Amino acid sequence: MPCQSPQSMGSHWCLTSMKIKDIKNIKIACELMESGLRLPLVNSLSGIDNKRLLRGLWNEIHGCRPNPGKLPSSVVSYINDYQSAADIAGFIALYRSIYLNTINNSAYAGMALDPSALLETWYEFGKLGRPSLDINAGYYAIRDVIFEIVLYVTCRTCTASFIYDPAKRYTERCPYCKTLHLG
Ligand SMILES: [Zn+2]
Repeated sequence: MPCQSPQSMGSHWCLTSMKIKDIKNIKIACELMESGLRLPLVNSLSGIDNKRLLRGLWNEIHGCRPNPGKLPSSVVSYINDYQSAADIAGFIALYRSIYLNTINNSAYAGMALDPSALLETWYEFGKLGRPSLDINAGYYAIRDVIFEIVLYVTCRTCTASFIYDPAKRYTERCPYCKTLHLG
């Protein structure tokens, strides 16, 4: 049987057809799964289309099947108090700094969703002495800011940036100084 590309393979790998890029993608997918990122998000971030392979790796890493539950529609689902709002705002600021450092271009103002930068932010955030943020919350925070699914605003009092949603109790004020944001 001829070798297939990793994207089209079933349960067996054909090592002779693998490229370094494929191995790097699998490594990053494993790290994302170890951090607890939900499988459909690992799938989209790593670029690995082989869902059977990903499910097998998930089972091996976690010893159980991946959560089949519905994914949230935005990061706002993870904001349940001012502390979670502040943690998510801090995660976005840290990601931005790590991402800009990664691409080595401080003049570039935008951000993109990068799996390595997401992982590094999650590891670094976990070193700040608080229980680490759910990486899924971190993923949605970065995605939602990049694609403008949520409003990311600056506080007029303390100049911190945070996710603003006037319809929710903990997102209508700056989570740090509690100044009401008037959108
Ligand atoms: Zn503030």
